[in-house]
Amino acid sequence: MTELRFEDRSDFENADRGFIAKLDPGTVKSRDGRVVWDIDSYAFLSGDCPDTANPSLWRQGQLCARQGLYAVTDGIYQVPGLDLSNMTLVEGEQGVIVIDPLISAETAAAALDLYRAHRGDRPVTAVIYTHSHVDHFGGVQGVVADEVPILAPAGFLEHAVSENVYAGNAMNRRAVYMYGAVLDRGPAGQIGAGLGLTNSTGSIGLIPPTIDITHTGQEETVDGVRISFQLTPGTEAPAEMNLLFTQQRALCMAENATHNLHNLLTLRGAQVRDPRIWSRYLTEAINLFADQADVAFASHHWPTWGRDQIVAFLSLQRDLYGYLHDQTLRLLNAGYTGIEIAEMIQLPPALEGAWHTRGYYGSVSHNVKAIYQRYLGWFDGHPASLWELPPAESARRYVDCIGGVDAVVAKAGNYLDDGDLRFAAQLLKHAVFADPDHKEAKDLLAQTFERLGHGAENGTWRQLLPNGCDRAQERNRGRPGS
Ligand SMILES: [Zn+2]
Repeated sequence: MTELRFEDRSDFENADRGFIAKLDPGTVKSRDGRVVWDIDSYAFLSGDCPDTANPSLWRQGQLCARQGLYAVTDGIYQVPGLDLSNMTLVEGEQGVIVIDPLISAETAAAALDLYRAHRGDRPVTAVIYTHSHVDHFGGVQGVVADEVPILAPAGFLEHAVSENVYAGNAMNRRAVYMYGAVLDRGPAGQIGAGLGLTNSTGSIGLIPPTIDITHTGQEETVDGVRISFQLTPGTEAPAEMNLLFTQQRALCMAENATHNLHNLLTLRGAQVRDPRIWSRYLTEAINLFADQADVAFASHHWPTWGRDQIVAFLSLQRDLYGYLHDQTLRLLNAGYTGIEIAEMIQLPPALEGAWHTRGYYGSVSHNVKAIYQRYLGWFDGHPASLWELPPAESARRYVDCIGGVDAVVAKAGNYLDDGDLRFAAQLLKHAVFADPDHKEAKDLLAQTFERLGHGAENGTWRQLLPNGCDRAQERNRGRPGS
């Protein structure tokens, strides 16, 4: 195991750099007075890491808990910490261009107000959506009153709608679990999703783009600001783009390079992303833009300043996705399955030891399975997997073989005592599926999930674990959640 370098405080220095002002108090309400964002509820993160959290995830939570208005460079500002994503503001000749107006109209309006309080009452002269995920467009109606140009990568509208509608019910339900927006916050509860703290819960809207970015090398001048685009379809989102502000020498990496290992298959569900193309586009971004940028920023996390630092950052992100892709292919071609490869892959020290490649949002484990799925699908090649019984049916039989639910619970307790949390969870899943009303089984499974959650470095894993046995029970009764 590579030692994590907690003494390296450069991320904290970069996250604090350019600070201008906070939103105070750090709450945002809807028109009817409902709190849709409350960053003050994360104040506990300023303390030392408790036993109920993974120190690496706690550190990431501390970094994500920074909020307010920050100067990135002359004429470019960011507002992190008012939603899962960052809003970026680029000053033009007549007003200000908004990049990625957060999830909710309420948080987006609050971010714009904060900017205006310190930079003057500039009108919004254009909006740019870097990609087709809701945390990058949902709040647009909070920043735009009149018709303004809206720039987005080709295919944006189709993907913004299809990804969240066709499988929308399931995806939204899973997203509630994954982002933990309704979980209690605290040292033993929700401490952030890795990519940011959590989702805001205000009103979501969408205004269609008016200008499509269709190819790399396309240049546009918006409110007097020159922008050069790199189209990166099939990376973090099906429609996504990076952009260089040539006069300001500032590179926006959208969500293609952030301070964590991202998801190749987000746990809320989506089509599997392509790590090969993602890696390739990062190489292209370095070649196209590195010599023209003094700062690189993204729509999550904090910027990176300095050409050498930008190249080092982007190169390592590139290597991260490339390595996962290549090594998973090598091992699947050797006959291993996704579950096996997920246990076998060890990142090289350079990738293991950097903070921005850690699995706070994606994880090596679930990304490797996603790559397997992308290339080979759900079937692991074993004939017994072709026609498996559904979970409740097999659970009843497993439990019968072991001697009843009480016996399973006793065995699981032994595994728990030995620290084998993963197998205890697997055993208890059978117990709860076989007998959803068995209190001891449910309680022990809940305890197991809690211990797994407290140890998890991945924010979304930590958040998916609470209430897991209630969900198993819900499915077992054939009742989908709300
Ligand atoms: Zn995002």
